[in-house]
Amino acid sequence: MKVLITGGAGFIGSHLAEKLLEQGHHVFAVDNLSTGKLENIVHLRGNPEFEFFAGTIMDEILMAEMISQCETIFHLAAAVGVRLIIDKPVDTIETNIMGSEIVLKLANRRKRKVIITSTSEVYGKNEQVPFKESDDSVYGPTVKSRWSYACSKAIDEFLALAYYREKKLPVVIVRLFNTIGARQTGEYGMVVPTFVKQALMGHPLTVFGDGSQSRCFTNVRDVVRAMVSLAENPEAVGQVYNIGSSEVITINDLACRVKELCGSKSEIQYIPYDKAFEAGFEDMYQRVPDLLKIHDAIGYKPMISLDQSIQEIIEYYKR
Ligand code: UDP
Repeated sequence: MKVLITGGAGFIGSHLAEKLLEQGHHVFAVDNLSTGKLENIVHLRGNPEFEFFAGTIMDEILMAEMISQCETIFHLAAAVGVRLIIDKPVDTIETNIMGSEIVLKLANRRKRKVIITSTSEVYGKNEQVPFKESDDSVYGPTVKSRWSYACSKAIDEFLALAYYREKKLPVVIVRLFNTIGARQTGEYGMVVPTFVKQALMGHPLTVFGDGSQSRCFTNVRDVVRAMVSLAENPEAVGQVYNIGSSEVITINDLACRVKELCGSKSEIQYIPYDKAFEAGFEDMYQRVPDLLKIHDAIGYKPMISLDQSIQEIIEYYKR
């Protein structure tokens, strides 16, 4: 089958391309290389089944041409990372909303299946964990720009579901919970690659707030395996699924694990949120996925432990 990955040179997109190629698919990848990198796909460039296009999803002519040739679209191109969202709010909102509008509109002309990559951020600061797909989204005020990311992704979900209901476009929505692995960069705020780099260089590990906030980190290979299975499952059409891990860890404990696995003597430095981001920054205290729905659909269970994922990231940075 011919598939298109938007954001195909990104961290998750490049792993997804590998997985789809492994399964015998022909992969078209488009990326504007804003946060994606050619080095993420350098090992795929000689593969005749892999075609890369440097371009933007806002380019309707390019997108129409690529969508006409593919049966399934994995839409990953988006502005990601809390740092980027705070620093470039206009880009975040425009890329996430207009980009998805274009992909869905063009996919609908040819009735191509679209897998929309959403995020656990859409649950916002709802404190009731674990998060079930049917749970409420709870956002802060519009003056706090962090919430623009969650809202932009929620709009993508609304639009995709609207296309499904009104125009019978086959869509599947996945909400990813803190995906980690080789090739993820810490440049846009992601905590695990940031800590690994800091620990390897002997710099202090920067814990924001008091470090009691927790997350469930999911290995990218578990994530792409789940995305591909859902894309193949006709019953997943029109549905929303969490993809994550059930291993909860506080950011304090994460800093200690990373130090230990790196054999690092780095100190842990606590930075108030106001200094790390912006005045009045609101973090999500905890974020745990309910995995019942995806388990029922495709038998998904996360297979790769946090320690193994951290090891993979350490090896990546050492290389
Ligand atoms: N964080 C941290 N130090 C860093 C980067 C992030 O303590 O250098 C914290 C951040 O405030 C959040 C958690 O780590 O509580 C996860 O951050 P990340 O940006 O990786 O993902 P998020 O869950 O916020 O989307």
